[in-house]
Amino acid sequence: MSDVFEKINQMIISKKCHQIVTVNPEFVMEAQKNIEFRKVLNEAALSLPDGIGIVLASKLTRQPISERVTGIDTVRKLACLAAKNGWRIFFLGAAPGVAYEAAIKLQLLYPGLQIAGTYSGSPNIQEEDEICEMIKTAKPQILLVAFGAPKQDLWIARNLERLGVPVAIGVGGTFDFIAGIAHRAPLWVQKINCEWLYRLMNDPRRWKRMLALPKFTFLIFSSLISLKTINKEST
Ligand code: UDP
Repeated sequence: MSDVFEKINQMIISKKCHQIVTVNPEFVMEAQKNIEFRKVLNEAALSLPDGIGIVLASKLTRQPISERVTGIDTVRKLACLAAKNGWRIFFLGAAPGVAYEAAIKLQLLYPGLQIAGTYSGSPNIQEEDEICEMIKTAKPQILLVAFGAPKQDLWIARNLERLGVPVAIGVGGTFDFIAGIAHRAPLWVQKINCEWLYRLMNDPRRWKRMLALPKFTFLIFSSLISLKTINKEST
């Protein structure tokens, strides 16, 4: 987590444009079939391990990631640092009024936080020019986009350069949690790595998306087996 904020600080100082992605197993499975999304993930300036599945897989594949870095924790910490450093944040996405509610809640938590703007909008291509003009005029240092994956990440990749925003992050359902219209799992559930199950129980419509989890597990184990076979053949 601390590495992340050092990197984000450098990104903002550099004034160049950077995309951050918050990866979970659903992202990885989507990227198997969606070439455009795969390219966005591979070319992102920073990939955060949002899902516990990513952390566990990293250990199995011997490229261990020390901890999970969730989108919601990143946004909270970022808001705290933004208030201290005078970085302005634009909140784009979620249902009407939710981005505004989330921004105000963060401002109450971190007095001095400058909200560059909030807008629900949509990832539809017809709205893109109008939304980009709005963001360019607001000149934020940080843009948070909550259109759900992969739409939010593709939207950022398409528009990042013309927006000129130093840091843009796809944040999924983060505004819903901060605004209080969705509730995060209790800490003990997070600690036993079952936050995904809690979300599924609270919103059973997510079941179809959750099919990505067994597929991801299969993908990791089959990759491990083929790696072992290759290693055996080469020795
Ligand atoms: N969303 C949106 N426009 C869309 C699709 C989704 O604003 O066309 C919002 C939705 O309201 C929610 C967020 O995107 O706030 C996605 O939340 P989800 O729970 O799917 O994200 P996750 O946290 O699972 O990645």
